[in-house]
Amino acid sequence: MSLDNKFWNIKFETMPRNEIKNLQLKKLKSTIKYAYDKTPFVKKSFKSAGITPDAIKSIEDYTKRVPTITKDQIRSEAGQSRDLFGGYLSVPFEKLLQFGVSRGVSGERTFLAETENDLDICSEMVARGWYGLGARKSDTFMVDQHVSASWSATARKALSRIGCLAARYSTVPPFWEVMFTTYVRLIEPNVINQPTWLLIPAIRKFIKEGINVDEINSNLKFLSHCGDLLSEPVRKRNEEFWGVPLYDTIHIPEVHVFGSECPEKNGIHFWEDLMLVELLDPESNEPVGQGEKGEVTFTVFDIEAQPYLRWRSGDMATMDSEPCACGRTHVRAKYYGRKSHTVKVNGGSIYLRDVEEALWKEPAIAFKPYQLVKFKVQPQPKLVVRASYEPEAKSPDELKKELEQKLGSELGVKTEIEMIPPEEVTKTPLELEYLLPKNERFPNQGHLFKRYIER
Ligand SMILES: [Zn+2]
Repeated sequence: MSLDNKFWNIKFETMPRNEIKNLQLKKLKSTIKYAYDKTPFVKKSFKSAGITPDAIKSIEDYTKRVPTITKDQIRSEAGQSRDLFGGYLSVPFEKLLQFGVSRGVSGERTFLAETENDLDICSEMVARGWYGLGARKSDTFMVDQHVSASWSATARKALSRIGCLAARYSTVPPFWEVMFTTYVRLIEPNVINQPTWLLIPAIRKFIKEGINVDEINSNLKFLSHCGDLLSEPVRKRNEEFWGVPLYDTIHIPEVHVFGSECPEKNGIHFWEDLMLVELLDPESNEPVGQGEKGEVTFTVFDIEAQPYLRWRSGDMATMDSEPCACGRTHVRAKYYGRKSHTVKVNGGSIYLRDVEEALWKEPAIAFKPYQLVKFKVQPQPKLVVRASYEPEAKSPDELKKELEQKLGSELGVKTEIEMIPPEEVTKTPLELEYLLPKNERFPNQGHLFKRYIER
């Protein structure tokens, strides 16, 4: 570990790209061999593809010949074989540190398992990210503990490596705004790690109570955004309110990936000495060209419990491998939303980020729940968005007209807006992707569900 002021691990964070590539190939070969030898699922899929680990001599061989894997494939294998892990557990049970089920936000739940080694790898990613953003020894770091056991353990490990104090708290609905705002005032943390759907309602609550941010916390260094797509209106609102920078991060527990923005705020760095990141066309499976959007696909090296090869994350992003002004040499990804939430209109694709950024610039509906309507038959003839609003704001008809024009011209497609009162959003039976999927108990919480419905 370096004592350099800016980097947690200067050797690897600034490694020249050709050296990263060499290291990747070396680690990739041993990762493939391990996964093949220890994992029934991998052996089976290599057999169907007619390959053995020896056939993979380059990164290109790997990305061309080794099949990708999705959560659905694991679920289907788990269902057929009655093996909880779907043939994707590579160590004996006694070697596991812990295992559990995913939150199941995107469908059936899947089993996740990890060893101490797997947590070490991911906590190195977290330490690089948070240290690079300014977390230092003795800082108090507020981390929500209910997100997942895997995340809690990883975050705690990373914080203890930096020397920070983890202030754990639980934000259990329906009183989470109360807990969060109370804890912030009690703990006076140096860093807060939270998703959009907690940060925005917390600001509302502080404002409603007439509490000035200076009274809340003068120790705050930065906000670490997590667990959600971060749109620029959300970043701007938080930075204005808190008076500190907000940086985006991403954690994908299944593959033990953590990525983080750097102080330049121009994309999420993924540590390529620890993983191979690919962007694939969701239909053709081919790599996309520079600057094009593709599905982010990960292979994390040296994972012991579930060493997934070419894990398709279901998230759409662009990727930039040009050197970053921060000095780090690793790729940066900009996220656009889930692949399944993308709609096709006029031969082009509209992503959740596009809709949210256009929508939430309008003060009357900023940060209100909305729904992107996805027609069962794609492409669809127009973009349809259900937008909720403050009943006392402008008239719904007036808003509807303004928004249709604004989104239509910004996104370049025919747009129809359906105005709905905020409480309607949470009453609609939907396929939800976030917390409280069956939200009947708390219909009026106004959570920032980012979601879509099918018609
Ligand atoms: Zn950077």
